[in-house]
Amino acid sequence: MKTVSRKKIIEALKDQQNIFGDYLFEEKLTSSKNYYEEIPPVVEVIREPVEETVNLFEDTDDWKNAKTLDELNNLIKNCSKCELHKNRNNFVFGSGNPDADVMVIGEGPGAEEDKQGLPFVGRAGQLLTDILKAIKFERNEVYIANIVKCRPPENRTPLPEEMETCIPYLKKQISLIKPKMILCLGLTAAKGLLRKKESLTALRGKFFDYEGIKVMVTFHPAALLRNPNWKRDCWEDVKKFRKMYDEILK
Ligand code: SF4
Repeated sequence: MKTVSRKKIIEALKDQQNIFGDYLFEEKLTSSKNYYEEIPPVVEVIREPVEETVNLFEDTDDWKNAKTLDELNNLIKNCSKCELHKNRNNFVFGSGNPDADVMVIGEGPGAEEDKQGLPFVGRAGQLLTDILKAIKFERNEVYIANIVKCRPPENRTPLPEEMETCIPYLKKQISLIKPKMILCLGLTAAKGLLRKKESLTALRGKFFDYEGIKVMVTFHPAALLRNPNWKRDCWEDVKKFRKMYDEILK
């Protein structure tokens, strides 16, 4: 039988969860051996033993009073408020134009982002740059950040408690940047920012409100790389996003 890597299985199940929500659809096979019996549970959290590190982060609320993104970054870059700090190589604050009219919000750093300390680099990052270009935004014109700022192990979805702990930092970034529109990439970004419980299918392509800012949800570029069939729907979403942007700034 063809061997499927654990990483690919987790990615495929994550895509399914993104589109259909928390219900797992199982394909019935006719062969005598049930292949799916071998699939590890999608929600399994892989916890590698980690060495305890000395925590130099003083958990104060000073960051809430930060007046600039740089100041905020300096105050939170050594954060250890959740488990994700233990495996990170780099804290990924966000990057782009601090006065951006558009913010793009993803889920969390992947391997390359963790290595470079920057959001959306690597293949998914390149695809995001291409998507933005297709709707006439230069990448350095927008601001890009994530729901969590440290990489979840094996690119798993951040746990609800990790998201809850980290999202106040993102909200502070939004309050400093004051964008006119936000594009959420993937269900985790939508759940985190908008507190929505529906599936991506139900949420994508529509406008929502976050503190007076228009928010649209569409596919995460990493999901588009795995499922190119979704690119057409994503294209429809982002065209609508651009149209609204032009109307707002008219
Ligand atoms: S993910 Fe967020 S809350 Fe958790 S350690 Fe990193 S910066 Fe802190």
